[in-house]
Amino acid sequence: MIRRKFINLLTTYLGTHLFKPLIFAKDITGYTGDRLKLIKDSATKEIVLLKKWDQYYISLNDFAKALNYGIFTNSAKRKAVLYVDRDKATFTADNSYVLLNNHVYQFTYEPIWHDSEIWVSAQILADVFTKYSSQKFLYNKTSKTLTINKKNVNISKVDISSRKNGYLIHVYANEKFPRKNVTIKEKKGWLYVDIVGGKVDRKSINRKIQSGLFSEIEAIQFSQMVSIAFKLRKSTVSKELIFDEESNDIYVNLQMNEEIPKEDIRNTELEEQRKEWLIDTIVIDPGHGGKDPGAVGYKKLYEKNIVLPVALKLGKMINKKIPDIKVVYTRKTDIFIPLWKRTKIANENKGKLFISLHCNGSVNKKVNGFETYFLSADKDDRAKSVVLKENESISFEGQSDRKRYEGINFILATMAQNAFIKQSQYLASVVQGALAKKLVANGMKNRGVKQGPFWVMVGATMPNILIEMGYISNKHEANFLKQKGNQTKIAQAIYNGIAQYKEQVESTI
Ligand SMILES: [Zn+2]
Repeated sequence: MIRRKFINLLTTYLGTHLFKPLIFAKDITGYTGDRLKLIKDSATKEIVLLKKWDQYYISLNDFAKALNYGIFTNSAKRKAVLYVDRDKATFTADNSYVLLNNHVYQFTYEPIWHDSEIWVSAQILADVFTKYSSQKFLYNKTSKTLTINKKNVNISKVDISSRKNGYLIHVYANEKFPRKNVTIKEKKGWLYVDIVGGKVDRKSINRKIQSGLFSEIEAIQFSQMVSIAFKLRKSTVSKELIFDEESNDIYVNLQMNEEIPKEDIRNTELEEQRKEWLIDTIVIDPGHGGKDPGAVGYKKLYEKNIVLPVALKLGKMINKKIPDIKVVYTRKTDIFIPLWKRTKIANENKGKLFISLHCNGSVNKKVNGFETYFLSADKDDRAKSVVLKENESISFEGQSDRKRYEGINFILATMAQNAFIKQSQYLASVVQGALAKKLVANGMKNRGVKQGPFWVMVGATMPNILIEMGYISNKHEANFLKQKGNQTKIAQAIYNGIAQYKEQVESTI
């Protein structure tokens, strides 16, 4: 603790005098002295790099300043909007979703918030623009260069907005197309805008649309022309081509014969995408069960028999207080479920949080306290025995079940969860804090948030934690844990933690 404080002080000092430092928990190696070369129009600029995991991060502010791009940072929401020519990308700290030209894409490495600004992995920044916009950012990690080019296109993107009794298609053109080169036609439920001499990058145009008149946009590139096709849910009454002399852009005004709700189509689309982020399904996983008793404690108290009632109480509380949330249990009775199947249930039910409930056990009867884990390939030394104990469940599984774990590398498994680890860590700290509020007063020790390679968390595609609610090998805690009133207290504490997390996360989207 003292060392951490010292490092923070030192880096604060250095930060104001020398460079932008970055000190996080152990997953950050921080500032390395490396710089990124930005190459654009044969001019070169350099900006600071930070290293996290195996990625180099750049400050979006530095990037925008160096290349004269527009940027807007919302510190309260820890978001930044970057404007590169006519493309607009929104990055949010600790959030793996990037909004580019009103479409949401998910990436592995989340932006981070440091020194009051957003830092983005250089690789992700290059991918976002190269894959989905008219820009071509070539990133070379070895030579630490980012080369900024434009793709060889003259139509960069297509937008749709709703109007009274109709819709407006906006085709962004980088050069002037003569009127005779552009035609529109409607055929078999599709509207085609054909542009002779048009060149597009299909990825920046093609997409599915959830609501409104259009269900899909698809560009077909021919050698002499491009055909941009719009799949229609209803047919149109009239269509009119409009050429904007100033901007070179082309508009198609579509009239319908019935009133269309006034909602902005882009807003409804965003609303649909926002729903993806909402915590609307929580998976509760009472550990062990059936032939697997889990830890066996004081007076033959079984772990499986404590975690199940706590799980059911927690689920009931969620149902009662936030009825919009769907609660899924990996087991509701005393049955055996293999570890791999627990995350499978969570993923199949599109869980947004995965909460695994356990009790601890030790040969040393004096050991006591509660702790919360998130998945990591690393483990604290003190966590070793807990990891061993919880992974022991595999020994109750059949041969074919056990085969599933072969060849799984915890380091890779953790990397695959990268997008959720930061959230899992945050969820763990909030839940542990809520447990402390209720349990410390009952003479239980707060053992804090820890990390470890637990099989039950591998493969979960959502933030996930494992709670050890106390030692059933300890006489005092065994007596505490088996009382129904105390089980309610624990469920209440976990509920409070989840509710706090949900509120915090949803306020940022
Ligand atoms: Zn357990």
